[in-house]
Amino acid sequence: MTVSENTNNIHIQQISKSSYLNQSTATPAELRNALRLHGLSPAKVESFDTQKKRALAQLRSKSSDIEKYVFLAWLRNTNVRLFYGLVSDQLEETLPLIYTPTVGTACQNYSSIYPFLAPPGQPDGLFLSINDLPNLTQIIQNYKPYPQNPELTPQIAVITDGSRILGLGDLGVGGMGIPVGKLQLYVAGAGIDPRRTIPITLDLGTNNEDKLKDEFYLGLRQKRVGDDQFFPFVDAGTGAVILAGFMNAINLAGIPAKEHKILFFGAGSAAVGVAKQLAAYFVNDHGMSEDEAREMVWLVDSKGLVTLDRGDRLAEHKLYFARKDNSGSQYPDIASVIEHVRPTALFGLSSQSGAFSEQVLKSMAGLNERPIVFPLSNPAYQAECSFEQAMVHTKGKVIFASGTAFPKYTDPNTGLISAPGQGNNMYIFPGLGLGGILAQPDTISDRLIYSAARACANALTVEERSQGLLYPVLPRIRQVSAEVAAALVAESVAEGTARNEEAIKLVKTHDKNALLKFVTSNMWTTNEVEEEITTFAPHL
Ligand code: NAD
Repeated sequence: MTVSENTNNIHIQQISKSSYLNQSTATPAELRNALRLHGLSPAKVESFDTQKKRALAQLRSKSSDIEKYVFLAWLRNTNVRLFYGLVSDQLEETLPLIYTPTVGTACQNYSSIYPFLAPPGQPDGLFLSINDLPNLTQIIQNYKPYPQNPELTPQIAVITDGSRILGLGDLGVGGMGIPVGKLQLYVAGAGIDPRRTIPITLDLGTNNEDKLKDEFYLGLRQKRVGDDQFFPFVDAGTGAVILAGFMNAINLAGIPAKEHKILFFGAGSAAVGVAKQLAAYFVNDHGMSEDEAREMVWLVDSKGLVTLDRGDRLAEHKLYFARKDNSGSQYPDIASVIEHVRPTALFGLSSQSGAFSEQVLKSMAGLNERPIVFPLSNPAYQAECSFEQAMVHTKGKVIFASGTAFPKYTDPNTGLISAPGQGNNMYIFPGLGLGGILAQPDTISDRLIYSAARACANALTVEERSQGLLYPVLPRIRQVSAEVAAALVAESVAEGTARNEEAIKLVKTHDKNALLKFVTSNMWTTNEVEEEITTFAPHL
């Protein structure tokens, strides 16, 4: 065998075995012959559309969401083009299956479903255990889900230690569902090349007794090293999407920005992180001083209104927003706090289902023409109220966004259908990731995140605005991601951190359309699979 024949054979084997390049039943006849696949599948050569149609029918035939999750994971790990083709066509149906809320169930059951997510040898993500530290470099090099392109180094990694998963607590190695799921959103939402993403789970053990006792648990069977505050931060992408919705909510509420009073029910790291981003918005966009912005926020925790003189020792992160204008009075529950503060906006980040009761919602509607109510706790069963409850008890006045998707509401009297806003991370972080890849700043600063939030808020079309939406409709996600990425690139050039010369030159021309075109042309699409086959093996 000559060297070129040998190389050819290697190419052939790699293409036929690659979940990226092998198109299964859509492989054209001549390629089947060249790849020596003839006879290994039925004779019919199908169109991509037929493949997607069948996959959708199969998906819909599954009776539970977790079965659908497993089906989609298998598809992603065996036929990348078909998976992303299906997801992109059916975003509204598939996103809740590949990410929240179903990913929560998947993480809880990860060890049981793991062998059915991918064929043996096809990694679902990279697992790094505490025992791997001495061999880290080698292990990272082992991660080659698409071995035919060794030069395609990862551009984006999402990392979890599994300790705080979506309000479901410590799920140990099961946390892998999150980086895997998020990176799928990066690909579907912003066209980041799937081959350049790397989901990582740091297995540091688990403090979850049920997992430690579970015979199928696949992670390290030991208590977590260190404490479970290993990463005590709120995902700044997360806060940005809430900020984007709030920017549009303020416009709808119809009262001057300075008159808003924002009550956070829940004063954990998530609430304080979001509150700080909102305060920064009032400083940046409404010319307030830092003190003025801080005073627009009230926090409530399990002991009531967070005040400096409440008598207990406040956790460090609560101090910044702790009130000192309460004249010695304390307010132990949400009803008394609402009466005292008279808020225009109520945010829920407490994981206390039903906390925004009929009485609370009626009080908000009594105080405001258009009350802003954002029950943001995840998953849906921990949300402070549902969209339907918010609509019913405010008589349809509410401006609403939640952490997880709620069904649309049909007014029983008028038949009018209203759609809830969902502070879906999908609106920001894929675009943020793409913008980061294109601008290449060393870090993503608060300014960059802020510019992404503003771009997302501004991405609403006239029609979406007229419908009172806070976020664009999901099928437009690629356009929204392009706007977000372009805004990040422009801001990165403005703050002097961008390193990509092409992007820097473009931004300096002040031609927004050219910048958007540049961003869009860098988005991966399923068409690239065919192009890749030709580039990779032009002789075929
Ligand atoms: P956490 O446990 O650190 O904080 C919870 C807070 O709620 C604490 O301050 C606690 O005192 C308070 N609380 C609990 N019971 C209460 C009660 N009965 N009355 C008043 N306050 C009460 O959790 P966290 O990490 O800050 O996350 C909180 C929630 O926010 C979770 O459900 C999480 O899923 C959700 N979250 C949502 C998003 C989003 O984008 N929608 C982003 C981040 C977090």
